[in-house]
Amino acid sequence: MTSEEFRRRGKELIDYIADYYDNINQLKPLSQVEPNYLRELLPENAPEEPDNFDAILKDIETKIVPGVTHWQSGNFYGYFPGNSSYPGILGEMYSAMFNGIGFSWINGPAMTELETITLDWLGKLIGLDASFLSFNADGSLSSGGGVIQGTASEATIVAMLAARCKAIENFKAENLEYTQDDLIHFSSKLIGYGTDQTHSSGEKASMIINCRFRGIQTADNGSLTKDLLENAIQEDREKGLIPFFIIGTFGTTAIGATDDFVGISEASQAHNLWFHLDAAYAGAALICPEYRNLAPGMNLADSFVFNPHKWLLVNFDCSAIWFKNSYYVKIALSIHRDYYKNSATDSGLVRDYKDWQIPLGRRFRALKLFLVMRMYGAKGLRQHIRRSVGYTEWLETELSKDDRFKILFPRTLSLLVFQLSMDSIQALSKTNLDSEQLSAMHKQANLRFSQFIIESGEIFLTTASVKNSTAIRVAIGSPSTDKSCME
Ligand code: PLP
Repeated sequence: MTSEEFRRRGKELIDYIADYYDNINQLKPLSQVEPNYLRELLPENAPEEPDNFDAILKDIETKIVPGVTHWQSGNFYGYFPGNSSYPGILGEMYSAMFNGIGFSWINGPAMTELETITLDWLGKLIGLDASFLSFNADGSLSSGGGVIQGTASEATIVAMLAARCKAIENFKAENLEYTQDDLIHFSSKLIGYGTDQTHSSGEKASMIINCRFRGIQTADNGSLTKDLLENAIQEDREKGLIPFFIIGTFGTTAIGATDDFVGISEASQAHNLWFHLDAAYAGAALICPEYRNLAPGMNLADSFVFNPHKWLLVNFDCSAIWFKNSYYVKIALSIHRDYYKNSATDSGLVRDYKDWQIPLGRRFRALKLFLVMRMYGAKGLRQHIRRSVGYTEWLETELSKDDRFKILFPRTLSLLVFQLSMDSIQALSKTNLDSEQLSAMHKQANLRFSQFIIESGEIFLTTASVKNSTAIRVAIGSPSTDKSCME
């Protein structure tokens, strides 16, 4: 492709993108294709000769697009939102243009420094304590700070690795005569905690770092309390295990629950646990001061992650994690070779983000965050969040007025979880059912109701399993959602 052709095709693509977003609510959000549909439509091997761009475009239009699920549709209410925006897309274009792999400051000074600065901006906007920020008041680099990871799952692995490193360092300091076998024995006893509502990434992190993980059973509200955590710690200590890590969540995936961060912090301090706070979805709302009271004690965490790529208009991927003390992350993940050596690193004046993440290479993701923050301004971002919450409040009010439905949990921001009510099932039944028959019918009806909505294809939503039954989750957050979507 020549630069001439790139100019032409690129401009056409920009128009195509704008048309796509202008008309997105006319598309069915969920792709209607059958499994393995694409295998039959594309050749078995890559072409030997260069293909013609028009032919490729035609294939994209007729074969690829039908298999796309339109996450940006205003009628997409599944999982949690995964926002995109024009500034976010432009940021991705800049990043693709430079295509640097800036893992150390020396091979990406702007990439590194823009990330440090934008994460301080963002941290301040969501009300993080100064101890999470990279810059001290005098402009020098602090021991804390943020870094962009691809996903919250990766960020949680990094936090867990740092926590394990801290536990091992403490063990070494307390057992100066330790042997390698002692260390192996110690590591094999480590146990991390979450709850039955913690996102699967917590358990996956423990699978990857090869430690135990306990999902503490929560009460009906799905929230972890200090007592529940203390009891689990005590039980596991009695079994000879060594608690070292706890994930608290602001806005759990299935039902939007929030844990007791003050209680978790107290238990963590008493038992030397690393407190990692997962606000992957709900963290975006903290940009609005009025929602900060939903996460009291959030600043007590050791690490805090949230995904601007979920509900804050930054294109995937952009997961922001902040540490109060990056020392253990760097001990856990730094690795040295001659080919990484350079005078900037030796000066100790710069950050090399390769030491804050699992891969070596990294993308220039700060650009899209920078563009989004500058082009929306904090005001525009707050407006976007409040708009989603407003629509969800409206839906909550409508459903509350209708006794065919029951809202199962207090609404968290823009996530509403509801079911067909038991009364509506009783009313539908011609005969008198005993309570067992009624609850079986209720379960079936909710399952079929959710399947019916999803199969209709008009809107997309996902379900949660609540008390052995199916509940419907509506997660509103697309900037394309408007009043017409609510009709
Ligand atoms: N934590 C919570 C609470 C989530 O809801 C999710 C995903 O929805 C994740 C973590 C994982 O996010 P990611 O896809 O960025 O790994």
